[in-house]
Amino acid sequence: MEMSARATRAKAAVDVVTTFFAKIQSAADDPDALDFTFGNPHEFALPGLTDALRAQVEPQSVDWFAYKTSEPAAQQAVATGLRTEVGLPFEPEDIAMTQGAFGAISLALALLADAGDEVVIPVPGWFCYEPMLHAADLVPVRAALDPGTFDLDVDAIARALTPRTRVVIVNSPANPTGRVYPEATWRALAEVLDDASARNGRRIWLLSDEPYRRIRFDGIEFASPATAYPWTIIDYSYGKVLLAPGQRLGYLALSPLIPAAEREELREALMPIGLAIGWGFPDAVMQYSVPALEHVSIDMAELTRKRDRLYSALVDAGVEVTRPEGTFYLWGRAPGGDAQAFCDALAERGIHLMPGTLFDQPHHFRISLTATMETVERALPALVEVAAEWGAAR
Ligand code: PLP
Repeated sequence: MEMSARATRAKAAVDVVTTFFAKIQSAADDPDALDFTFGNPHEFALPGLTDALRAQVEPQSVDWFAYKTSEPAAQQAVATGLRTEVGLPFEPEDIAMTQGAFGAISLALALLADAGDEVVIPVPGWFCYEPMLHAADLVPVRAALDPGTFDLDVDAIARALTPRTRVVIVNSPANPTGRVYPEATWRALAEVLDDASARNGRRIWLLSDEPYRRIRFDGIEFASPATAYPWTIIDYSYGKVLLAPGQRLGYLALSPLIPAAEREELREALMPIGLAIGWGFPDAVMQYSVPALEHVSIDMAELTRKRDRLYSALVDAGVEVTRPEGTFYLWGRAPGGDAQAFCDALAERGIHLMPGTLFDQPHHFRISLTATMETVERALPALVEVAAEWGAAR
């Protein structure tokens, strides 16, 4: 075996995703395929995104395309946005611009955790936490969400903590469940993390993965755990709100509530560690565009219509669905209980959902609401028919 042990573990943890990805790539060659799998765009880019990039692509100085770390104007725009959305006085110097949330999570792990440290992750949760942790030589420890409501189960997190725990990752609005957690949850979690940190004699950090922060339905309020637990670092991505995940842009933000000496140490490490992990800064043009991009968003009214249409039709067909409060995913229980079989039956009709097996949940499925309304309407008759068939056979 030539490959490193950590690469072997990372590959094993992500195999279910890459295998599914390859299968979907070939299915997508069918022009009639109705694709509800990954959160990819199915329509041309938002005009606000194209305009912002076009406005910055023409060089305005000789160093326009020179090596760039975090651009001050981008850091300033991010800090201003965070002040409003999270309600804390973020400082521009505490923002590191990154290649999406992926880049920000890698930066956070490199800053905070040593090889062999344990990192608690939610299950079901995003399928890249585990491979990323393995690749960083860290140990993923799973904490189950409430199996009925998919609320964060603070007691389950408490049980997952050990003297080796260094980081707890939380994600709200949550992929794949669409749940948004209230402030009371964060207060309860903060208490647990404070107690465990005191017991361990070492601080447990909270990494709040917030790439869907701006994608919320029905005016539901957003609460960041940063307001409840000072030792919180936030990661974000513009890939979701702009529905342009290929344009890699995001950031890591240190909470202004982190005690001064610790914040200072981390702040000074943001740039050098961004360099050490492989020039983890986003490209120049994406960074110049941040002040404009802060005000561009996926069409929430249209997304809400798609959510409502699919949610009602599935509920009417007797499918158990978690009503999305945020994100662009809809999470449901497969009629008949076998998500793989249910998704295979739909795939035969040209409809592609993501089976919960990618999230270690063999009874569930995920639908991406980034498909067009036309795709939704075309898929619904067969979706409802297959759901009724499999539900009746239960
Ligand atoms: N975190 C969660 C919960 C996600 O769903 C994703 C993308 O699917 C990411 C992080 C990574 O986002 P990006 O690809 O924009 O870096």
